[in-house]
Amino acid sequence: MNTYELLKPEPGLRVLITGAASGIGAALAQAFLQTQADVCICDVDPAAVARFVDTHPALHGAVGDVSDVEQVDAVIDHARQALGGLDLLVNNAGIAGPTGPVEALDPAAWDRTVATNLNSQFYFLRRAVPLIKATSTRGSIITMSSVAGRLGYPYRTPYAATKWALVGLMRSLAIELGPSNVRVNAILPGVVEGERMDRVIAARADSLGVPFDTMRNDYLNKISLRRMVTVTDIAAMALFLASPAAVNLTGQAISVDGNLEYL
Ligand code: NDP
Repeated sequence: MNTYELLKPEPGLRVLITGAASGIGAALAQAFLQTQADVCICDVDPAAVARFVDTHPALHGAVGDVSDVEQVDAVIDHARQALGGLDLLVNNAGIAGPTGPVEALDPAAWDRTVATNLNSQFYFLRRAVPLIKATSTRGSIITMSSVAGRLGYPYRTPYAATKWALVGLMRSLAIELGPSNVRVNAILPGVVEGERMDRVIAARADSLGVPFDTMRNDYLNKISLRRMVTVTDIAAMALFLASPAAVNLTGQAISVDGNLEYL
């Protein structure tokens, strides 16, 4: 195999991506499809899953709320049947959670953030790890953390807490699964261009009482490259991590963020 061939996933890789009917997950699904991977996505919104599968007939789609252990079990059963095994789990689904000073946060919103961003990843791992071990010789797992998993993020404490927790989960699991030849890494996206980031910037602007454009410029000024990253940048890192070029890469938290200096 020549060097360039090493840089893309082998055709036929069986991939499950959570929260993938839109946003980063959808970009990942499209990128993996282009490498002839066999891809199953799950998402909470049945209409969004149906629309995405309609436009990408090679995809397998499952509906489920990742924060509900029984629904996750059903998604894993669906993926196992559709793919006939599993080589790569991308634990991508996540929500922004509430914005505000800690004393103003609603405990129910805290719980929802932890359930969707952290508990969900455990629910998928507890079922996917045995499946990967039993059916794959090139198994790996990608955790979608965030730059908020390496920096403090004032007024977004629930989100930051879950994203730091995911790095601890990833590093521990990399040690646990290394002897079984299953690799575990985290991607830490920075400020990703798109609707979700516009919502995050708007919520923060509201919470601090400043105009949207001022807040947007504040974000850009914190990035060494002075630009947002794109979903394509994140997809490229996921393809690399799933490729033979990354066969000795595990236990790593990899930032794709233009070097976000602080939050
Ligand atoms: P989006 O909100 O754009 O997409 C996430 C998808 O997950 C949506 O389709 C959403 O469905 C779905 N989803 C939400 N809650 C659930 C749930 N309980 N069960 C199943 N699916 C669910 O997010 P992004 O693509 O922007 O983010 C993906 C990941 O990347 C997240 O973990 C996020 O924290 C992380 N990240 C994103 C950054 C960014 O700038 N965008 C920066 C750093 C990290 P619906 O639309 O119906 O809610």
